[in-house]
Amino acid sequence: MSSASTQFISASEGIAVTDRSQAMHRDIDRIIISQKQLQDRVTALAKEIASDYARSEEGLTLVTVLSGSVIFLADLIRQLPMKMRIDLVTVSSYEGKSTQSVEPKLHSDQPLMVRGRDVLIVDDILDTGKTLRLVRAWVKREKPKSVRTVVLLRKPAKAPSEVVVDYIGFDIEDLFVVGYGLDYNSLYRNLPYVAVLKPELYED
Ligand code: 5GP
Ligand code: MG
Repeated sequence: MSSASTQFISASEGIAVTDRSQAMHRDIDRIIISQKQLQDRVTALAKEIASDYARSEEGLTLVTVLSGSVIFLADLIRQLPMKMRIDLVTVSSYEGKSTQSVEPKLHSDQPLMVRGRDVLIVDDILDTGKTLRLVRAWVKREKPKSVRTVVLLRKPAKAPSEVVVDYIGFDIEDLFVVGYGLDYNSLYRNLPYVAVLKPELYED
């Protein structure tokens, strides 16, 4: 299990953006986690997960929370040398330009096929924990063989201790971050790093 090696990233260690030639980068206040740090950590997480499930005959079922997790999922699974199925679910919690979480709702086009399977829930970031609590309860109702959770980021200042997370990429400060899949008002998902926007761009 990974928590012991989880790295805390402080915003004050942030890197200034030097390449402002593209409009997207101009909106960034500072980079919190660089592309290289992301790559290295995802590789380490994949190794740990692969080793923990090495004996799983059936392989894994990844229940992935859209849309913020797509880049993390894509990078992670290409380093997992095991059979797997991927289920995609949508949980709406932040709407439009809001940076405040509201009561999340879960949507899925089809019933989850997780009965008797080893399930790994994949999410981008653990903030208040409402999303993961909801998805976990939903998965558990379908009687899987096991359930674990992986998140790329966690805000320990906010995340309640009873929300179980088995694998964590980085602990960060309680800041609204974008990039590597995470959006603000549907933008910035394609940034190759995790960053905070200039304060004047946030509307609440
Ligand atoms: P929770 O339910 O734990 O409060 O929130 C989890 C969801 O809220 C995440 O999956 C993510 O979609 C969104 N979220 C939480 N914090 C942030 C953040 O700093 N930036 C962005 N872009 N989304 C966030
Ligand atoms: Mg999410």
